[in-house]
Amino acid sequence: MKIKLRPSRLKVRRQSVKWIIVHHTAEMYKQPETKIDNSKFQMPGLVAGVHIQKQADINYHYVIDKIKEDYYPIVTRPIAYLCDWDDIDKNINNRAVHVAVLGSYDLKIPVTRLYEILAFRLLNPMLKLFTLAPNKIKLHRDVSDIEDLTCPGDFFNEGKMITLVRRFVIK
Ligand SMILES: [Zn+2]
Repeated sequence: MKIKLRPSRLKVRRQSVKWIIVHHTAEMYKQPETKIDNSKFQMPGLVAGVHIQKQADINYHYVIDKIKEDYYPIVTRPIAYLCDWDDIDKNINNRAVHVAVLGSYDLKIPVTRLYEILAFRLLNPMLKLFTLAPNKIKLHRDVSDIEDLTCPGDFFNEGKMITLVRRFVIK
């Protein structure tokens, strides 16, 4: 099942990137594949979710999926377009890149390797490219106006993420 590419339905980014927002995919799509972190390739679950919700594209710029033994970031929406998040202040969302880890971390503790891939392959290169400090990386629950939102999951540890970001900093 393929997503039809409809760039005319996406909002073009007009401002430079100032924020990176971290999510987990369990919040967005109901397919069971978006809630489990296992070795099966799970992207088809997200694609099915896009079709069911009649969205133009997956509502994250990158999703980290588990393929066999390891984690890989996949481009799911070109960063020249914005993602649609009504619960996030427009001043932030218009300048945000959205990154999601595949799974539900309300149910499961993310493994260290997942944080490492997130930091090394996505967060650090973006900090470097957009000249941002690590405090510009935010969890969805910290920028949302939905009070009980847990995204990227109760077990997702911001301190651990930032520690690994500092370990892989690009000088
Ligand atoms: Zn989220």
